[in-house]
Amino acid sequence: MTDWDMKMENIRNGNVTEENMAEENVSPGNRYLRQIPVIGEDGCRRLQKSTVFIAGAGGLGSPVALYLASAGVGAIRIADMDCVEESNLNRQILHHESRTGENKALSAKKTLEAANSRCRVEAFPEKITEESALRLIGDADLIIDCLDNFEARYVLNRAALRLEKPLLHAAVSGYSGQLTLIIPGKTPCLSCIFPKAETGHSSPALGAACGVVGSLQALEAVRVLTGRPTLEGKLLLYDGSSNTLNSFSVKKSARCPECGGR
Ligand SMILES: [Zn+2]
Repeated sequence: MTDWDMKMENIRNGNVTEENMAEENVSPGNRYLRQIPVIGEDGCRRLQKSTVFIAGAGGLGSPVALYLASAGVGAIRIADMDCVEESNLNRQILHHESRTGENKALSAKKTLEAANSRCRVEAFPEKITEESALRLIGDADLIIDCLDNFEARYVLNRAALRLEKPLLHAAVSGYSGQLTLIIPGKTPCLSCIFPKAETGHSSPALGAACGVVGSLQALEAVRVLTGRPTLEGKLLLYDGSSNTLNSFSVKKSARCPECGGR
């Protein structure tokens, strides 16, 4: 059993060693009443104690951040260097017409704090680079890839490998999208799966397709944080033109320049 599997089992069994876990107030009012039967009070406590790093406050980052803040994730670190443009508004539901010209990470912080005032949101209006990635990820338990280009994704992948933190990848194009969960040392890394992805062009994106794929990503994030991941070493493909979901096993590559298949 790998360290990751042991960690997930401990979370599932409630063998949580963090301080004061049992004393946290799970449910302020009725806020989490409807999700307690699904993930349990332990699961809610675990979300409250979690920090996620969301790379990108766009089409995927919008549903992911909104659902995680609403579900009671304790802290969200969100980074995006771009400003809100009118052409973003068909899909980027974190932002509004009145925010045009504002930085997306800062706009996201306003929306998320309005959605759940107990969620601590740190906004980083910065580009994710080799120099900034480790600092931006900070103390996050989970790195969530909501980016729109593989150049930055490969930076995030290298940071995840270096920090040995799980990386939840998703991408969307047109009607369709894909997801996978990367556990350094256990599963293939992003470069094993996509050794030479195209970079530098923006994909066509339908808002509802971003919503579906982002919701699948948020759901898997909740599952990871509560000890029940499903996409380790699996690539989930959503085809919105036929409304079908398929998943495939993915393999490590011994020739991978990033992880060397380890
Ligand atoms: Zn690799």
